[in-house]
Amino acid sequence: MSYRFSHRIYRLPLQTPLRTAHGWWAEREGILVRLEDESGSVGYGEIAPIPWFGTETMIEAEEICRKFSDMVSDDILDNTPERFGCVRFALGQARERRPANASANRLPVAALLPSGKDGLRVFPEKLEAGFLAFKWKVGVGAVDDELGVLDDLLAQLPAHAKLRLDANGAWSRREAGRWLARCADRPIEFVEQPVAPTEEDTLLGLANDYPVTLALDESVVHLSEARRWQAMGWPGVFVIKPALAGPLNEVCDWIVKTKADVVFSSAIESALGRSAILQAVLAQSLTRRALGFGVAGIFGDRKWDGPFIGPLADASCVAFNPGEDLWNALN
Ligand code: MG
Repeated sequence: MSYRFSHRIYRLPLQTPLRTAHGWWAEREGILVRLEDESGSVGYGEIAPIPWFGTETMIEAEEICRKFSDMVSDDILDNTPERFGCVRFALGQARERRPANASANRLPVAALLPSGKDGLRVFPEKLEAGFLAFKWKVGVGAVDDELGVLDDLLAQLPAHAKLRLDANGAWSRREAGRWLARCADRPIEFVEQPVAPTEEDTLLGLANDYPVTLALDESVVHLSEARRWQAMGWPGVFVIKPALAGPLNEVCDWIVKTKADVVFSSAIESALGRSAILQAVLAQSLTRRALGFGVAGIFGDRKWDGPFIGPLADASCVAFNPGEDLWNALN
């Protein structure tokens, strides 16, 4: 099959800038791609890189798009190098021609709590809103201070709710050991990326030494990395941001075939990328874990944000075919 290819760049300010390990993130930059096949059928896809998280840069993604000529074949698209996971996600999405199916499945959504004591302030609001899964960013302040806040958070956690912790690779092995010992036998769903992705032996060692479930996030940006960790015998969870990982159907097939224990998470993509992900996840039984998509309304623009996402994600959270609207908005 060959396609007429075109792309457009978008820049969306974040309504509330996000604090990351690499400073403040205030604007989401990405690229929409459009593929029109020989029958005139059109599909759209979204490239939403996070370079500091290990993806290609915007400049690299743009360069690939500029190198595609107006007409591209499946062969050319399939030859996009593996490390361009965001581009490969978008090309897969834009070639998808299956009709959208509104699934009856539902999955809980995890509410994101800000780091430090702010987590305690936001927690009651989220609980009130009906959330039962919570994610709290740790590894930002001193260990003792944060462990104190952890006790306060757990004291308020209802019996049926669970807390996940995300250290974003910030701890040393020693710090991780203190935390994981403290988390044992408490309602911690898992601890995400306790140490840096480069510390592979430490990650495997911690997973075997402590009873708390661990999750990899920064370590498994691309599907190939998740496969590698799985082959090494990783006993825990894989946090997958499908918009960064590669073609969505490959991610889904991997989960179905290997029964990998996966949490799906947002890469702060727009309604276009997110809808494709939620549609696939809700249509198949790929996970029972709460979705990491508690970032509703991040652009403050209904068109780009898509449907509101509350404590429970279902078909109403999926925007059906938002591509053309968003594409035209960039004209
Ligand atoms: Mg994470």
